[in-house]
Amino acid sequence: MFRHDKLNLYLFIVLVGLQALGVVALLTRFQWSYLPIMLAIYFWAGLSTTLYLHRYLTHRGFEMPEWLKFIFALGSAVSLAGDPVTWVGDHRYHHLKSDTDEDIHSPLHGFPYAHMMWLVRKPADFRDKSLRYAADVRKIWYCRLWERPYFYIIPHLLVAATLYLEELDALRNELSIGAATNGAKPPGRNFAAHTPPLPSSVRENFPFATPATRAPASWSKTR
Ligand SMILES: [Zn+2]
Repeated sequence: MFRHDKLNLYLFIVLVGLQALGVVALLTRFQWSYLPIMLAIYFWAGLSTTLYLHRYLTHRGFEMPEWLKFIFALGSAVSLAGDPVTWVGDHRYHHLKSDTDEDIHSPLHGFPYAHMMWLVRKPADFRDKSLRYAADVRKIWYCRLWERPYFYIIPHLLVAATLYLEELDALRNELSIGAATNGAKPPGRNFAAHTPPLPSSVRENFPFATPATRAPASWSKTR
């Protein structure tokens, strides 16, 4: 019975750590401009798991263009849903052995195992058993590549780094405006980042008119 198998402590810490990182987001300052990005990633990741990994790749319920398959496979890697070969193998095995002792995520083993506990307590020989049912997925080059964890986390890290650097850039712009205006607060966080530079003809006639060197009179009222 798999419930007595060894706990994969490393994976357990990673999974709990990722949830904790999500809570840390509460400490950041929310901007409405984040919302569309958040929703886009949410739907991309959600459809990549339910529509692509489950309905398409595991059950072959329908067909879709090759480029769309890749976009969804990428989305499943960005959301760290599990590499496609393992995901499909585990899921086909689950259907094959539904609600028997060999089903690793049946509610009959208790709620934690129906949810996520099975991820960190798989029997040692389970991978060999389940992979037999995912041979077709292994023929897809990017699915085969993502069986290696180091390649699998690259899309996730790239998206995270892009969002982080974008945020860092906006913060740096805000700080430089704050310093140039003696601490007067600009009206919006990304004011400088989204304000195009003034044409040189305007700058020559109004040398102090650039937002980086002079705050509008309305800001200084609050000082
Ligand atoms: Zn299914």
